[in-house]
Amino acid sequence: MLRRNVLRVLSIGLPLVFAFNLLLIFYTKRIVQELILGDRQNKLQFAPSELNWTVMDRLSQLEANLQHLKQTMKLATKQSEDGVGTLATVKDEKHPFPDTAHAKEGDFFKENPHKVLFPDSELFRKWGRDLSEAQQKEAEDLFQKFGYNVYLSDRLPLNRTIPDTRDSRCHWKRYPSQLPSLSVILIFVDEALSVIQRAITSIIQRTPPQLLKEVILVDDFSSNGELKADLDEKIKLYNQKSPGLLKIIRHTERRGLAAARNTGREAATADVVAILDAHVEVNVGWAEPILARIQEDRTVIVSPVFDNILFDTFELIKYALAVDGFDWELWCRYDALPKDWIDLHDVTAPVRSPSIMGILAANRLFLEEIGSLDAGMLTYGGENVELSLRVWQCGGRIEVLPCSRVAHLERHHKPYSLDLTIPMKRNALRVAEIWMDEYKDMVYMAWNIPLQMKNTLDERVCLDQGAVPGNTPIMHHCHQYSPQNVYYHLTGEFYVGPLIAQRDADDRCLTDPGKGEKPTLEPCSKAVKDRLNIHWDFKPGRAVINRVTKRCLEMKKDVWGGYTLVLQACTAQVWTIQYTVRNWGSD
Ligand code: UDP
Ligand code: MN
Repeated sequence: MLRRNVLRVLSIGLPLVFAFNLLLIFYTKRIVQELILGDRQNKLQFAPSELNWTVMDRLSQLEANLQHLKQTMKLATKQSEDGVGTLATVKDEKHPFPDTAHAKEGDFFKENPHKVLFPDSELFRKWGRDLSEAQQKEAEDLFQKFGYNVYLSDRLPLNRTIPDTRDSRCHWKRYPSQLPSLSVILIFVDEALSVIQRAITSIIQRTPPQLLKEVILVDDFSSNGELKADLDEKIKLYNQKSPGLLKIIRHTERRGLAAARNTGREAATADVVAILDAHVEVNVGWAEPILARIQEDRTVIVSPVFDNILFDTFELIKYALAVDGFDWELWCRYDALPKDWIDLHDVTAPVRSPSIMGILAANRLFLEEIGSLDAGMLTYGGENVELSLRVWQCGGRIEVLPCSRVAHLERHHKPYSLDLTIPMKRNALRVAEIWMDEYKDMVYMAWNIPLQMKNTLDERVCLDQGAVPGNTPIMHHCHQYSPQNVYYHLTGEFYVGPLIAQRDADDRCLTDPGKGEKPTLEPCSKAVKDRLNIHWDFKPGRAVINRVTKRCLEMKKDVWGGYTLVLQACTAQVWTIQYTVRNWGSD
C-alpha cells in the first residue's frame, strides 16, 4: 500500500521534500533509540555508509521503521515508569516447547558491516550483528565456555525489568498479611558472575523484604576464577546494605545437583526454602503464592511456572501453564492440565502435578522429615522424579502455582558436562530400584533395550504400530524407534508401540478381531473390558497364535513387493523378539 502511494507522490515531483522528512525521521529515531537503549539493542537497520540507497528502497522500509520506533518509544516509556534502564521483551508461546526459529537469519549476514567469524554458531543466529571481529571472538569464547550469551549478560543491567507473565487475574489475588519467612537457595557450577548477580538482584527486588530471610549460594566446586574473590566481593557489597542476607557455601569437590540442593537446605534457617538454579530471574509476586500455599499445607511441595530466557538474546519466552510429568526414562515432560483443575474455572488455583522439573519450594522441616533429596543421585537427572515419588508416597503432594513465575535460562549446552546420558540413566535405574517395584522393568527397558519383533521370512522388516491415529499394525523396514517396540507379556498380551501408561493415554495391545484378516491395536484396558482377543501363545522362534481364535499372526507379500500383516490359518511362519527380560511381568 505505502509503496504504491509513494510512487504517485514521487511522480508528481515531491521527492526532495519526502527525502528530507525521511532523513529527519531516521535521525530522530536513531538519536532517540541511542538515548534510550545505548548500544545494547539492535542498531537501526540503516547505516550512514548506506546513504547511496535509492529513495525507493528507503521508503519501502519507512513503515516498518516507524512501527519499530513506536514500539521502542512505548517500551521505553514503560521502562522509565518502572524506573529501570533496559528491557527484556516477551514472546507469548501457547506451547511449552517454543519454536525459537523465528529470527530473520538472512538479515544478519546482509547487514553486518564486519566479517562474520562464526557463521555456524548458534550464538549469532539472530544476535551480534554489530560486533567487531574482536568482539565476536570474545562473545563466542564466552558462549562456548558457559553455554549462553555471557557477553550480552555482562552488558545488561542487573536490575533489568522482565515482562510480568502472570495471568491478569493473579494481580487481584490477596494473600495473608502474615506469611512464613523464606530462604532462597541458588546452586551453581561454573556460572557467569553477572548471571548469578542478576538472579540475586531479582530475588531482592521482587521478594517482600520482611519475608526474605536469606539467600544462600551453593557452589558445587566451580573452576571459574571470577566465582571466588570477585563473588566474595559482591556478596560483601550486598551484605553492607542488608547485613547477613547473603551466604555462600563452597563444595570442595563436585557432588552433583541433588547434594548441592541439600547443602543449601541444611544451611537454611527460614520456615520455607525455595531451591533454584542460579540462572533465573524471579518475576513480580513470585514468592507470595508459594508462602501462602505452604502456610496452608506444610506437606505441599510447590513449583513455580517457568518462562524461558533465551540463551542468545536473553529475551523472555512465556511458557504456557502445564503440569510436570515424566516418561519411562524418568525424563521430564510437560503434561496436560488435569480436568478437575479446569473444572474449577480459577486460573489462579494450584495445579496438582505428578512431579517437579527440578526447581522447588517446600516447608524446610517437612522436606527434612521426608529425607530431602537423594544425595546418592550423581551429577544431574532423576533426582526430581525421585523426590516426587517419595513426596506422593509419604503423605505429601506436589503442585504447580500458576501465579508464581520464574524465568529460567535454558542453556545451549552445559558447562559441566557434554554428555549427561550416563548419570541420567544410572540415576533413573536407581529411582526404579528404590520406588517402582514391578514397574521398574519399564525403566530398564526404556533405557536399555530396543525390543523388535521380526518374522524370519524377511528380517529387514519389523512389526510396527502403523499410522497414528489409526489402529492397523503393519510391517515396516526395521529402525530402532519406539513405534516398533513390541513387548510380549508372559500372560499373553503383545504391547505394540511406545509404552505410555497415563490415565488418558493407554498402551495398545495386539488384537484378533475375530473376522477379516487384519489384526488391530486397541487400548489394552478397553480390550480387557470388552473381552477382545488379546492373548497369544508365543515363544521366541515359534509361531504367534491367538489363544481364542487359534489364528496365526503372519505376513504375506503384497502387490508392491512389500509385506502385509495378516491373521490366517497357521502356515508355520515363526517370529523372533530381540531380548527376553527374565521374570518381567512375573508379578
Ligand atoms: N548443578 C550442580 N552440580 C552438578 C550439575 C548441576 O550444582 O554437578 C546445578 C547447575 O549449576 C544448575 C542446576 O544444578 O544450577 C540444574 O542444572 P542445569 O541448569 O544444568 O539443568 P537444567 O536446568 O538445564 O535442566
Ligand atoms: Mn537450569
